[in-house]
Amino acid sequence: MKDLRAPFIRFKDKSPDIMFKGVRTPFYAIDEAMLIRNGKIIKGIQEKTNAKILLALKCFSNYDLFSVLEPYIAGTEASGLFEARLGREEMPNKEVHVFCGAYRDDEIDEVLKYADHIVFNSINQLKKYGPKAKALGKSIGVRINPEFSTQEGHAIYDPCAPKSRLGITLSSFEEEMDEETFKLLSGIHFHTLCQQNSDDLERTLQVVDKKFGKYLSKLKWVNFGGGHHIVREDYNISLLEDCIRFAQSKWGVEVYLEPGEGIVLNSGYLVSKVLDTFKNHDDYIAISDCSAACHMPDVIEMPYLPPLYGANQSDCNIQYRIGGPTCLSGDVTGDYTFDHVLNIGEYLVFGDMALYTTVKNNTFNGMPLPDIYILHSDDSLEKLTNFGYNDFKYRLGKSK
Ligand SMILES: *Cc1c(COP(=O)(O)O)cnc(C)c1O
Repeated sequence: MKDLRAPFIRFKDKSPDIMFKGVRTPFYAIDEAMLIRNGKIIKGIQEKTNAKILLALKCFSNYDLFSVLEPYIAGTEASGLFEARLGREEMPNKEVHVFCGAYRDDEIDEVLKYADHIVFNSINQLKKYGPKAKALGKSIGVRINPEFSTQEGHAIYDPCAPKSRLGITLSSFEEEMDEETFKLLSGIHFHTLCQQNSDDLERTLQVVDKKFGKYLSKLKWVNFGGGHHIVREDYNISLLEDCIRFAQSKWGVEVYLEPGEGIVLNSGYLVSKVLDTFKNHDDYIAISDCSAACHMPDVIEMPYLPPLYGANQSDCNIQYRIGGPTCLSGDVTGDYTFDHVLNIGEYLVFGDMALYTTVKNNTFNGMPLPDIYILHSDDSLEKLTNFGYNDFKYRLGKSK
């Protein structure tokens, strides 16, 4: 129960229907106060350990909030050209790191224009683009695959799963690396975690040390990737700090981390309303004005049950299946219990909606994109977008 309410600590003295009154639903509200709260935790770790923590932009690219996060982070981490450009444009005084599964000839020059660190996914790509990157003074890394899975159940989020295309295995590393190529390198990057605690990082580090420790000792930095759920209530921060110190002392390297979720956890809401309710035999159904498939696709892809304000508490016993108005049968956000019968027009406020939502949403079924607001620390709302019909239409064809 506890973790389902944690996303709503912002609403302890004010209910969402007072907070959001009069604003057309559905919309996303990004919570400035929670970003600051999280940012302070992130900054504290960096001050204590000298590690550098970057924001993974693929999780959260909402640049209007970058000025809020900027004081607390060392830079941004990009998955390719566009995110690298966004990081450079919108947080120009911070480091830009890029990792991409494979770079392209027609983009590499522009990527290198924005990047401070560039991480390659194969020795092939390192040989191909490394000399150019080196000549431009970039810090070069490779992503390794320690082949050590610490997560069960989420194979699509496990880069250590068999046949993984992400990261260089030790056998490929040793087969394909030569002395000249190794000289291009400044660091090693791994990313194997997803929503995990620092005990899994600790176990991973032991494997990385055993397999790649002798190479790391000759380099300048290691990047622990993302997937560290740092600001979650039960996250063991002191063990993370021990892990950072282990890398610093054992290999003599600078340590980077690049969480996405671990920085923006619980920092946003998808505010919607009940459009309709009815029964299917004994089951209560509610149609919300937001859609899981369109507006929180990870609910279906991962899958997971997002927290919903006021639902699933100990005194709740009326269960509803809540889903969107689209034609997709599987457009179901989840089954939730309530202490009352839902009314049409009642608010449904989903929590933890800053991450992997606005960056992944879509207009399937012609669903409008929900507008994005900042929920400022003083509870005022600032509208950032003005989405409408054109955002649906012109991603599909010619605009006149
Ligand atoms: C996805 C990803 C991240 C961020 O992951 P989170 O789970 O949001 O912390 C960081 N680095 C790389 C290489 C990634 O692919």
